[in-house]
Amino acid sequence: MSIQSFIPPHRILMGPGPSDISPQVLQALSRPTVGHLDPLFIKMMDELKQLLKYAFQTDNDFTIAVSAPGSAGMEACFVNLIEPGDKVIVCRNGVFGERMRENVVRAGGEAVMVDDEWGAPVSVDKVKQALNDNPDTKILAFVHAETSTGALSDAQALGALAKQHDVLTIVDAVTSLGGVPLKVDEWQLDAVYSGSQKCLSCVPGLSPVTFSAKAIEKIQSRTTPVQSWFLDQSLVLGYWSGEGKRSYHHTAPVNSLYALHESLVILHNEGLENAWARHQAMHDKLKAGIEKMGFKFVVQEGSRLPQLNAIYIPEGIDEAKVRADLLENYNLEIGAGLGALAGKAWRIGLMGYGARNENVSLCLRALEESLSEQ
Ligand SMILES: *Cc1c(COP(=O)(O)O)cnc(C)c1O
Repeated sequence: MSIQSFIPPHRILMGPGPSDISPQVLQALSRPTVGHLDPLFIKMMDELKQLLKYAFQTDNDFTIAVSAPGSAGMEACFVNLIEPGDKVIVCRNGVFGERMRENVVRAGGEAVMVDDEWGAPVSVDKVKQALNDNPDTKILAFVHAETSTGALSDAQALGALAKQHDVLTIVDAVTSLGGVPLKVDEWQLDAVYSGSQKCLSCVPGLSPVTFSAKAIEKIQSRTTPVQSWFLDQSLVLGYWSGEGKRSYHHTAPVNSLYALHESLVILHNEGLENAWARHQAMHDKLKAGIEKMGFKFVVQEGSRLPQLNAIYIPEGIDEAKVRADLLENYNLEIGAGLGALAGKAWRIGLMGYGARNENVSLCLRALEESLSEQ
């Protein structure tokens, strides 16, 4: 048996994630590994918390990166906040809303579903009605940026509604963080999770999360222990917080955290507002080209995510063949449709470092050439 080193080609990643990673972040990843309780590493983790607070626009003390992908951040929010019997209103307008429902049920909660069509944002009116109909609701859960369809929901209005009803919010910000405005404190959101590999353009496998004081209160007043040992945030708290008194919980993914630190330094240097504006500008550029080619967007104007562009595939096109052609001949990856949109739509990601002029131009040219061959 002769197995050699794995040397991947340089792909340009314009799917739903992972996104393109800048060389600066990849370099950070290859720096020497230090011990995860090394004083210098702890200092880096403290900076990382500061940078995450900036990205989330929050002063929440409990703002960390879970050592696992976005799905683990999702699960951390649900298993910590939900106690058996808790009623949770779950908004479902795509794949990730359905995953939220599964999390609620597995945590022993009762899920009350608010459904909207795939491609539509969460209806604030329907949520208002559900809250009125279910006065014993404990938590409202919704996806800010639905990556399966490209729809942006009004997290500010939903957060305000939850507060009026004295209900906690769990918010999926995996694709929104760094790509569109997200203001955790101003919008009064309670448990928010994200992912490293979407608009932060870091390596996959980390999940930034932030918990409000109210969320921490709910966790601390639990009468039953969190079923998951690894995700029990009351145990993780001691690892990420407290100067000097940090104790072992699990071995942090040291080098991945260097990379996250680097990607957040890049975001901080650019400025959040500038990053949001850049995503919008690249979306506008892509949209102009895409519409000229006759494509239609899945999501109505006004609730379209700039960083995730779902477009309907024209009739008679072998969609998998086009994607394979882009990958083989242009080193370009775009996303297939997911769930109800499988085979019907492509998802073009403009996330983080990937939201650049040269990527938009390449994508438009490659699509045009590939389609004209078919
Ligand atoms: C990607 C994604 C997730 C899951 O993140 P993983 O890192 O793949 O586990 C969850 N929610 C949304 C909206 C996503 O886009």
